[in-house]
Amino acid sequence: MRRPLIVGNWKMYKTPAEAAAFVTQLREVTAAVQDVEIVVAPSFPALLPVRDLLAGSAIGLAAQNMHWEPEGAFTGEVAPPMLTDAGCRYVILGHSERRQYFGENDAFVNRKVRAALEHGLIPIVCVGESLAEREAGLTEKVVTSQVEQCLAGLAGDAVANLVIAYEPVWAIGTGRTASPADAQEVNARIRELVRDLFGADAADRVRILYGGSVKPDNTRELISRPDIDGALVGGASLQVESFTGIIRACEEAGKR
Ligand code: PEP
Repeated sequence: MRRPLIVGNWKMYKTPAEAAAFVTQLREVTAAVQDVEIVVAPSFPALLPVRDLLAGSAIGLAAQNMHWEPEGAFTGEVAPPMLTDAGCRYVILGHSERRQYFGENDAFVNRKVRAALEHGLIPIVCVGESLAEREAGLTEKVVTSQVEQCLAGLAGDAVANLVIAYEPVWAIGTGRTASPADAQEVNARIRELVRDLFGADAADRVRILYGGSVKPDNTRELISRPDIDGALVGGASLQVESFTGIIRACEEAGKR
């Protein structure tokens, strides 16, 4: 069975000191949580202090981006081994804000996904349609193409262990959430696609999250759906109270 996963994407928020205060509190209030995997994705400068404060806890660490090369003359970039050294288990790749503001495309994301896997990092691969694409009835086409391209060339075993996050762009940071039925439909389509491309084992094991204005009061209904294995959370992951509200709602959904 797939273990539910809640990932907090802090984007370009929280100084290292603020991140440290947050995880100190988060660690305390989630100490008894067993059935949900919790991950936080701070900014790069906050990774080391957060890693140290999370030592010995079940809360995992993710980076929000990385380069595909192991080192080199790439000013401003961060390499996979730097992230593993900083305690990261996961890395978010292809977030719509990276695609929108920094020109990342599926070919870039594919290189990054392969590099992450080579270095023992678990990619959280983000896909999702824009509002115009949804309104034009292109959701399935767009998401299918993104999944195919981002995961191109991978083995079934690798796909089984990674995470896909379906994040409709129009729902990110807008307060608009996909209905649980719509989110389930897209997630189920992604799983079907993984089955076709990488086999039944990969499809049964890959975790597919939903992201886009997830909050404590809409989490349970989303996560109760069979193909929604957790959430990638932006805004509501920035306060301990709302983030733990989402974690508790996920626990209550009772999926294991
Ligand atoms: C995100 O950043 O991935 C996200 C889903 O943001 P929000 O929860 O704020 O919509």
